[in-house]
Amino acid sequence: MQDFFDSISSENIPNQFLRKFEDGVEVWIKREDLLHPEVSGNKFRKLKYNLREAKATGFLKILTFGGAHSNHIAATAAAGNIYEFQTIGIIRGDELKANRNKWSATLKYAKSCGMSFEFVSREKYREKESASFLKELRSKFGKFYLLPEGGINDLAIKGCAEILNSEDRKFDFIAVSVGTGGTIGGLIKSAGTNQKVLGFPALKSAHFKNDVTKLVVKTNWELFSDYHFGGYAKVDAALIDFMNKFSKEFKILLDPVYTGKLLFGIFDLAEKGYFPANSKVLAIHTGGFQGIPEMNRLLKNKNLPQINLIDED
Ligand SMILES: *Cc1c(COP(=O)(O)O)cnc(C)c1O
Repeated sequence: MQDFFDSISSENIPNQFLRKFEDGVEVWIKREDLLHPEVSGNKFRKLKYNLREAKATGFLKILTFGGAHSNHIAATAAAGNIYEFQTIGIIRGDELKANRNKWSATLKYAKSCGMSFEFVSREKYREKESASFLKELRSKFGKFYLLPEGGINDLAIKGCAEILNSEDRKFDFIAVSVGTGGTIGGLIKSAGTNQKVLGFPALKSAHFKNDVTKLVVKTNWELFSDYHFGGYAKVDAALIDFMNKFSKEFKILLDPVYTGKLLFGIFDLAEKGYFPANSKVLAIHTGGFQGIPEMNRLLKNKNLPQINLIDED
């Protein structure tokens, strides 16, 4: 069997030009969202070397952590299924245990890929890095390959470093959304000395995790903390309106948690003259569409405009 990750290449996916702003500033986008329909964007990059390592070292089970709407949970379940691993998701929120009717579309999808769940309270979930909790999990599930929350470790960063290729050297700025910081960690690692990496945190209090802090000694990066729209998975009508105009004009869908805020931020900075004249900016589309239907249901309940899906014509 050809290796799943080798069978998919970004080489044939060209960067797409978006818009020329004043002073010749050009914004382009890298379509990592087109890598795979279910193991999309940066999750593909983060899982690649981890699943290979798990296979090579004889593991049969992958265990990881996430919330009920997590793109990482969905992607791990999908890739684990393709790679023939048993997958276990430690899910934040023990109220879901007794009540399957409350399961998110993400959980239902992960389940359909064969993932089994362990629902834990929010307090317990905070211990996810503690030795005692991991020991508890090992006695319950036996031997497993541990993927930290968000899939972040050295191998994930190695995979994310592959997002940039030699042709991308012509860009002065690489811009990406930041959750746990693994993806920006990989980009910081592989960016050229003439390039600056711009991070747009999706969380109110941006902090890098684990291995990422070791990388940020490099100084070729900066974070913009004004584009989180109130915090993780928080949206407003202005953001949805921007995303809908964007998808209509460029035929590119954005997600409301990460890439919508990223592109809003980049366009805003470009309009405010942040970028020097004739700069070339490359936005990384990290994928993440799986949560859109659920977000739309939420928006509908709040009487807010919904995210338009792209009509294929
Ligand atoms: C998970 C995710 C991110 C965040 O990546 P980190 O490596 O955790 O910073 C960004 N964009 C999308 C679409 C994601 O699913």
